[in-house]
Amino acid sequence: MSTDPSVDRSAPLASSAPLITDTHLTSSPPTAPTAEPLPLVARVATLTAVVVPFAGFVAAVALLWGWGFSWVHLGLLLGMYVLTALGVTVGFHRLLTHKSFETHAVVRFVLAALGSMAVQGSVLRWVAYHRRHHRHSDTPDDPHSPHHRGGGLVGLVRGFWHAHIGWAFTPDPADLDRYVKDLKKLTSVRVASALFPLWIVLGLVIPSALGGAITGTWAGALLGLLWGGLARVFLVHHVTWSVNSVCHLWGSRPYPDADRSRNNLLLGVLALGEGWHNNHHAFPASARHGLKWWQLDASYYAIRLLALVGLAWKVRLPAARPTARNSLTASRQDGPPAPDVCLSRSGDRDR
Ligand SMILES: [Zn+2]
Ligand SMILES: [Zn+2]
Repeated sequence: MSTDPSVDRSAPLASSAPLITDTHLTSSPPTAPTAEPLPLVARVATLTAVVVPFAGFVAAVALLWGWGFSWVHLGLLLGMYVLTALGVTVGFHRLLTHKSFETHAVVRFVLAALGSMAVQGSVLRWVAYHRRHHRHSDTPDDPHSPHHRGGGLVGLVRGFWHAHIGWAFTPDPADLDRYVKDLKKLTSVRVASALFPLWIVLGLVIPSALGGAITGTWAGALLGLLWGGLARVFLVHHVTWSVNSVCHLWGSRPYPDADRSRNNLLLGVLALGEGWHNNHHAFPASARHGLKWWQLDASYYAIRLLALVGLAWKVRLPAARPTARNSLTASRQDGPPAPDVCLSRSGDRDR
């Protein structure tokens, strides 16, 4: 196995190699400590912390309907939410961090720009942090694990805070650049990353301009900025951060060897499929995180749509239906036909 952290450890190696070569499946077990079930009170507290503020947001929207919120603002909020969240989930995460499919340089650039509008740091920094998270999942070197912050409820709250947003206030690890050596060779990613401030401004100007143009008023432009810009950034922020915090604390673990990550239904929906986080940690290179039919995975559907119109190819999936851990080590001959499974990994050059 390569020691270069910029190399996706789960990449298929060659067409003759088994299709699924996830580290968790083919090498020694993860070094993460054995997970202990959270106390009931901690689970209830976590669920409350996630659901109540979101319910409050929905209630605020309902109460403002007709004078501070309308169909126009709902459209701007949802439209910008979906576009920028997909920029993060499909672009930053599945394409650039894990190379779970391939695409044209232009699509890569657009996805990186959309993800940057979510205001979660430049794309290169985001990817470096996330690769570090996978490499050291739930060990003390994980940049945002909710564990290792002490025991009891106080330790849980401290861990939750650190995983959710506290980590962003700590200095960057010195070795961060090593994780994105490959991406720095891509002009599309390098330029998109350098233009991060521009994408932030555009992510606010676009909904504001649309709100003004649709309503023909300055108040419409202001409300467009408020709902499609600021409120949308707030929502995408907390949903993304909840994948780091909630999805390492609360939910099911069908693949218990995959560190302490969890599948969380609520975030499976809100985070456009990213909440099936235990599945993802078990099979990080898979473009599909919702592995069962009922596990909604909007980001995977978006990738399928890109593939349908010829803008994505070599979409990587588990070789066999992952009903059991060992079924995923099967070679192609052992699994069902999977026409879009990647047979070999291409280079990192721009196309
Ligand atoms: Zn994780
Ligand atoms: Zn990941």
